[in-house]
Parts: sequence; C-alpha cells; structure tokens
Amino acid sequence: MIITGCGNFYQTIKQLGSGSFGSVYLVKDLNTQYEFACKIISKHLINMYNASQMIQSEIAIHSSCNHKNIVKFYSYWEDQNNIYILLEYCSKGHLINPKTQFTEDEVFQIFHQILSGVDYLHQHNIIHRDLKFENVLIHEDGTLKLCDFGWAIKVQQLPVENVMCGTTEYMPPEVVSKQVLDFKVDTWSLGVILYELLHGSFPFNGHNQLELIQNITTNQLLIFRSDGVSEDLINLIQALLIKNPELRPTVQQIYLCKWVKTNMKTHNIFNHYENESLKLKVKQKNIALKVVHDVKYLTPNKKMKTSHDDVDGKSTNSINTIQSISTNTSPKQNKYVDKFFNFIELFKNF
Ligand code: ATP
Ligand code: MG
Repeated sequence: MIITGCGNFYQTIKQLGSGSFGSVYLVKDLNTQYEFACKIISKHLINMYNASQMIQSEIAIHSSCNHKNIVKFYSYWEDQNNIYILLEYCSKGHLINPKTQFTEDEVFQIFHQILSGVDYLHQHNIIHRDLKFENVLIHEDGTLKLCDFGWAIKVQQLPVENVMCGTTEYMPPEVVSKQVLDFKVDTWSLGVILYELLHGSFPFNGHNQLELIQNITTNQLLIFRSDGVSEDLINLIQALLIKNPELRPTVQQIYLCKWVKTNMKTHNIFNHYENESLKLKVKQKNIALKVVHDVKYLTPNKKMKTSHDDVDGKSTNSINTIQSISTNTSPKQNKYVDKFFNFIELFKNF
C-alpha cells in the first residue's frame, strides 16, 4: 500500500502493532528510502468512540516532546478515512519479558532510560498515564523510548480529574478507586515496571477485573528477596508501590534513592538531582568556598619550571585558586558554591 502525506510517498512494509483505534506500520519514504513507523488511526473508530479530543491531545502532546528516551514525532496529516502520525522507527519492538530473568544490572540499564523519559515529561507538566512494557520501544541502537501518548495529559492545575485510563495491571489505587490524580500515577506504573523487570510477573493479579482492582487497592505487597537482589532495589519498588500517592516518591526522589544513585555512579551517568541536592546541602550547612582572585603562589617543587617563572627563579602561577573553605557564607559567596559543583564552568570562567 502507498500512503501519501505532506507531499511524500510512503510504501508500507509490514505491520508493527495494533491499538485501540488503528494500526502501526513500518513504512519507507520512496524518495529518501528512510524508514519510519506510521500510526494510522481510523476516523470511523474515532467517531464511534467519541475519541476526537483524545487523538488531538495525543498529537499536541507527543509533537511537543523532544528527548532521546521518547519516540520522535515527525509529522501528521489526515485524509477522508484516517489520521496518519509519522514516527521514529524502533526496529526492536517493545519491551517484553526475557526468556531468562534480567539481572539487577540489566534492570537498572532498562529502568534508568524509562525514568529519564518520564522525568522529561514531568518537567514539562505531562503525565503519561499509560506507562507499560508495550509502550516502551527499543530503537535499533538499543535506546529505550516511550511511545503512545493517547492517555497523556498536560497538567494545567493539580490535582487532575479522574478518568479510568491506562491498563489495569499498571494502574495505581487512586485511578482504580476513581480519586483525583497527579504525577504519582506514573511513579506507581514505574514501580510495576520495575517489579515486572525483576520478577517477570505483575505485583498485583486477579482472576477478573474486579478482583484485580480489589487487590491493587487493598493487598499488601510482598516482595520475596531472590538471590543477588539488593535491599536497595526492593526498598525502591516498595516505595513506588505505596498505595497513598502522597507518600509515594516523585521522579526527583527516585533519582535520589540509594539504588539509582549508586548504579548511576557505577555506570558513569550524570545524576542532575544528586548534584543539585549536594549543592543544597552545602548551602544549608553554610559552607562557602573562599575564592581568591589573581593570587600568585609559589610552585612547591623548584624543578617545576613554568612559563611564568620569575627572574629570581621562583616559579609562580597566576591562575585563581580556591584557597580555603570557610563557614561564614554570604549570598555573594553562594555563587562560588554553585560553581564548585560545576567544575567545568569553574575553570572555564577563570
Ligand atoms: P494501545 O491503545 O493499545 O496502547 P495504540 O493504538 O495507542 O495502542 P501504540 O501503543 O502507539 O498504539 O502502538 C501499538 C504498538 O505498535 C506498540 O506497542 C509497538 O509494538 C508498535 N509501535 C508503535 N510505534 C512504534 C514505533 N515507532 N516503532 C516500532 N513499533 C511501534
Ligand atoms: Mg500502546
């Protein structure tokens, strides 16, 4: 089948998936030979389910996103029968349970990418509301990317009115019990994803929808500690699956938990929130760095000659130095504290 849109011709190659209002196809641009995924949404189904607003919102929200862990939205158009959304193609499909269980390290490598996508969304006041394995796609280069913004909402004011959205196994108690919602909907789903990555099953189950909802709202979560799984990871899952959304961690708090902090360090990934919290701690303790400008200091080892050698043979250097740490801070000095943590900027400015 040939699809025409925005002056281009696309050849459909194969079906990649299907959803509530249509299907997703792998397509090739006949001019450039580039491959894309094209989500084709049937107008007939949209009208049947009165979902026009939902699709408009999906397009508006998804097209506003720009992050490496979110599927790129290229363009959209419509004809008499369908709406077409042209997306970045993720050739390795969506996340599935592996044949052999993930190791804790593999769990981290998957989780931190999903977390990064969700962090971007929350920072832009977007709640995804349908985080699940099927909506985490794997790009050819192995990068994980969030897709499917059908239930996403741009928050104007908190809390958000409840609609039973998403997929029941991933829904928090406040959604299934029809209470108001906020960003913690997504952090619960992150807990379910983390549990599923580790155990290969959902934390809450039921023989039917009613039993499942009952278990989500009332069942105490029991996590059995399998060999090699750290207590820090178990603690994080338990925190994410706290039934009261007010007590459940935010994305920022997830970045500050021990399991994430330690693993980010191990994998050399910059933790923005940890950096910020360290800065804050120093400020709160009233510790300031005293920076002395244009001090000339003696090079300790006389054998070390520099281009700034004085005529009398004493080596000096004229760069600024952090001379001491004092405890009496002033607002003026705070700016140096900031710079201390961002050492690249510090040296660039000197
Ligand atoms: P549902 O409502 O059932 O969640 P949907 O109609 O909103 O589905 P998507 O979730 O966006 O549709 O896509 C359905 C499936 O199609 C995905 O789970 C995935 O397997 C596949 N798919 C979607 N987008 C892409 C893409 N960009 N690259 C590769 N596969 C994709
Ligand atoms: Mg989907």
